[in-house]
Amino acid sequence: MNALLIKNLRKTYKNGFTALRGVDLDVEEGDFFALLGPNGAGKSTLIGIVSSLVTKSSGRVEVCGYDLDREPALAKRSLGVAPQEFNFNQFETVGSVVMNQAGFYGMPRKLAKQRTEYCLRQVELWDRRDTVSRRLSGGMKRRLMIARALVHAPRLLILDEPTAGVDIEIRHAMWDMLREVNRQGVTIILTTHYLEEAETLCRNIAFIDNGGINPKQDMHQFLHSIEVEHFVLDLAAPLAQAPAVEGYRLEWLNELQLAAAVPRDTGLNGLFVGLHALGIEVSSLRNKTNRLEQLFLNRLEIE
Ligand code: ADP
Repeated sequence: MNALLIKNLRKTYKNGFTALRGVDLDVEEGDFFALLGPNGAGKSTLIGIVSSLVTKSSGRVEVCGYDLDREPALAKRSLGVAPQEFNFNQFETVGSVVMNQAGFYGMPRKLAKQRTEYCLRQVELWDRRDTVSRRLSGGMKRRLMIARALVHAPRLLILDEPTAGVDIEIRHAMWDMLREVNRQGVTIILTTHYLEEAETLCRNIAFIDNGGINPKQDMHQFLHSIEVEHFVLDLAAPLAQAPAVEGYRLEWLNELQLAAAVPRDTGLNGLFVGLHALGIEVSSLRNKTNRLEQLFLNRLEIE
């Protein structure tokens, strides 16, 4: 059973801009899934369509087996979404933000109270239930968004940049919390800019770029298959062109700098030995890109 099934989804905005050009995606029930892509790729458009905030131009969406066009109420009930921007009423207390959402789903008051307590405890905000939500820190607001998205016990939870702007310790606590939610059987799809987050949490991954999507891949296999590190080498003496060292790809940047692509399993030793044999000394070296950028670079090279 798929928690989310998308077939040939297209979206052209009123101004004529096409944000999604035939996207297919299937996310199995129980999965922890990362949807990655640069800004403007179409992630929010896709999430907006799945959560019925944006109308699609064409294509089919099923949430937990319910067609969004034919069974919209059941599809909506199966889904919880925490968007990127804080869109709760900041003048309400933490408790009432979650309670009101339960009311929106028509939950009887007693059950709504129980679910509110359960979800606020899960995100460690129960002690703050009487605090006006405007007064929460950024990390607490993110957690409140998640509690609110969970209150009606959805089977699929979509989180758009759930830890954006949250400092590292709190981020780690949120990861534990999300893992627990997933362990309890909720399928989670997240978008993130932090590769570490996707790497740590997610079992499957898909890339969206310029309105198109790559077939999903297993996270571990994916990382293993593509990991090539890029370095910039500073040279002790000028060179006129890039030397050749077997097993590495070297590019001449300028007289005193080379760029090196180093396969993860190869390591740097062989490069230094090879350069030394050619009489070339390296005075310093640094990583060319951060890992997420690298991931995108490598992916582009592979395609
Ligand atoms: P992401 O979430 O991956 O950053 P979005 O889905 O927000 O990407 O945007 C995809 C593209 O669609 C962007 O180029 C954006 O400018 C465009 N876009 C988004 N919303 C609208 C809109 N309401 N009208 C026109 N273009 C839009």
